[in-house]
Order: sequence, then structure tokens, then C-alpha cells
Amino acid sequence: MRIDLHTHSDRSDGTDPPRLLMRRAREAGLDVLGLTDHDTTAGWAEAAEAAAEEGVTLVRGLEISCELEGHGVHLTAYLPDPTYEPLVEELQRVLDGRNARLPATLERLRDLGIDIEEEDVRRLAGDAAAMGRPHVADALVKKGVVSHRGEAFNTLLGSNGPAYVPRYAAPLEAMLHTVRDAGGVSVIAHPWAKRHNFGALDEARFAALKEEGLHGIEVDHQDHDEPTRERLRAIARNLGLVATGSSDYHGAGKRDHDLGCNTTAPEEYERLLALAEAAADASGRKTPEVLVP
Ligand SMILES: [Zn+2]
Ligand SMILES: [Zn+2]
Repeated sequence: MRIDLHTHSDRSDGTDPPRLLMRRAREAGLDVLGLTDHDTTAGWAEAAEAAAEEGVTLVRGLEISCELEGHGVHLTAYLPDPTYEPLVEELQRVLDGRNARLPATLERLRDLGIDIEEEDVRRLAGDAAAMGRPHVADALVKKGVVSHRGEAFNTLLGSNGPAYVPRYAAPLEAMLHTVRDAGGVSVIAHPWAKRHNFGALDEARFAALKEEGLHGIEVDHQDHDEPTRERLRAIARNLGLVATGSSDYHGAGKRDHDLGCNTTAPEEYERLLALAEAAADASGRKTPEVLVP
């Protein structure tokens, strides 16, 4: 069984509409796909329709932009009730923050002599729930300023770049509680990706976060080299956290993140689903089911 639990559609910063994403999942030989757009569940309905047609099991989730001590941390949440009001409100706050950042980012670029109009970004963002840095990066590629998204982040838009503008992110511990209360499960995505440059997520911190409701760690991810994966796997094992693996696929929006390039072991997946069932029961919320075709 091939399981890829972390992917993006064009409802955030991927380039495939959810329906096409499900088709590509089948073509890539995946049995289970997790759809985890940034801070939005806008792709769930279309993906759910396509899941049955394509014969791929769909786990509905999202990747929430959080912060811990001022550092960005991405939290993948699976199977929460998407109508749970505190969750809805916090996601809106994050999306509003991202939209509000755009004019400020374009202003910084202008100061650097790079002229991008908001309209250029809007066109490239298409159906996305919010216009984010990846869409600005696309506009920079289109203008020939950089050759691909990664370069735009490395040279301009990343947290050390000259066009970086901070924005709102959800406090991590509070979000763990919110996801739990919404009946979902939480996995920290790519915790040791170098670009996050944050050393405080060590074993003791993971243990503390588990107390707050964390269920898993994304271990196998392209941003983790082999020694990093082994260390994270050991931490997950020591703490009894689920270890996941995934592609973080973004379509044409991210290189070297092909569907299924990392996968989650079936036994880890089963543990995660069991935890989700327990969380749903404890919350009393009506949570989305795993869609098995
Ligand atoms: Zn991420
Ligand atoms: Zn992601």
C-alpha cells in the first residue's frame, strides 16, 4: 500500500486542481492521498468527488501556518471538523494575514527595482484561497527575474530575503488544542527543514507538544537528509508519536517533490487513523471520514 499524506492543490500554492491531483495520484500508483492545502479546506469537495472516480483513498487535511517562539512551524491536521468555529476563525486570520502581506511585499520589491503588479499575482493565483509568496515567486519567474520558485525564495522572499514581510501565524500550542477540539489529529510537517532554521524543536519540545495534543512527526520529507530522518524517526519512536512520510507535492510549483517520492508506512497510517477516530469520538464533532473507494 502506497500512502502519501501531504500534498497541495491549486486551492493553495500547488498547480493542479484537486481533480487532476487525484488523477495523478492514481497514475503515480498511490493507494492513499492526503490533501493538505495551506490554511484552507477549499479543495476538499472536488477532491472527494474525484477520489471515488479515480479509486484512490482520500484523507482530508490541511497544513496550518503556525508559530512557536516567533519561528514558523507547519502543522498538518487531518480529519478535523471543518465547520468548527474556532478553527474556521483562526484559518481566516491566517489567510487574511497572507493577503494583507502582498501589497507590502510588492512594495519591498519595488524598492529593489522589481516592478510586479498585484494584478499579475492575482492572475497567477487563480483559484487559490489566498495569494501567497509562491504566487509572487511565479510572477517573478514570469518576469524573468528568477528562473524558478526556489530561487525566488532563496534570493528575495525567504525569511532572510530583502523582500520578506512577516505575517500572522497561529500560535502552535493553541492550534494543537483547536485541532483536537475539532476532532482531528496533528502532525508537525518537515520540522527540521533547514529553511525553518529553528533548533528548539528537540526531543524535549516534541514531548511537551505531545502533551498538548501532537500525534505525529513528518519524518520522511525532501527537506530532511538521511541522518535527519534517522534522528527524527528515533524521536518519534521514543515518544510514541506516529512517523509519517510524504511528498509535499505542489505540481509544477515545487521541484523534486514528485507524488509518492516519500511515503508513510501502512502501520503508521493505521495508527494515525486510530488516533483520528479516538479524537473524533472524544470531541463529539462530526468529522470527515476517510474516503475509501
Ligand atoms: Zn510546509
Ligand atoms: Zn506542504
